[in-house]
Amino acid sequence: MNRLLLTIYKRLYTRLGPQKWWPASTPFEVSVGAILTQNTAWANVEKAVDNLRKKRLLSPKSLSKVQTARIAKLIKSSGYYNIKAERLKNFLTFINENFGGDFDKLIEAETGILRKGLLGIKGIGPETADSMLLYAANKPVFVIDAYTRRILLRHGIIKEDAAYDEIQRLFMSNLPRQPRLFNEFHALIVRACKEYCSKKRPKCRICPLNKIRKGRGMGEVC
Ligand code: SF4
Repeated sequence: MNRLLLTIYKRLYTRLGPQKWWPASTPFEVSVGAILTQNTAWANVEKAVDNLRKKRLLSPKSLSKVQTARIAKLIKSSGYYNIKAERLKNFLTFINENFGGDFDKLIEAETGILRKGLLGIKGIGPETADSMLLYAANKPVFVIDAYTRRILLRHGIIKEDAAYDEIQRLFMSNLPRQPRLFNEFHALIVRACKEYCSKKRPKCRICPLNKIRKGRGMGEVC
């Protein structure tokens, strides 16, 4: 399995190059983006983050002072803005209560303990928590999302009902646990899936992953 995963990585990297993720200036901004990107396109998140930046609210201290309704207004472009404003507030409470509002201390926390804490925040699921762990805190945690699932499924590497943790284990127990590798690999999967592997019309003939397969993939797209 590790050879297969490394082959996928090499093919993607050779064709698409470094993706330079996560597009944000600070680890806190990465975390805000991870919450805002749930169920929406990145362009909508960028507008919301820009609004927060213009108001100098991209720090736990400044954002904690702002009421939820005002945050909701500022992040409106990201969709589900009332829910997401609540989620941001829950995240801020977590930082304030566990790390005295100091985001650097959060980053230094032990990976397993931090993950458990993040998953305990209402509205933060595994994908969001792991995005924060990898892209904000530089921890060796692989992020699984719908794109990862689609590509692995289509190449016969996972089954349709594979659980998040199962897919994550596949990467984490078969690859060197290097944040840099996990960072680039996940970003490449997202890019490849968006560019070639749409739900309805995968462009297998021009995709860098053409003919890579473990078994028979769903729909035999390759
Ligand atoms: S487009 Fe085809 S070859 Fe590319 S990842 Fe999707 S299923 Fe695989």
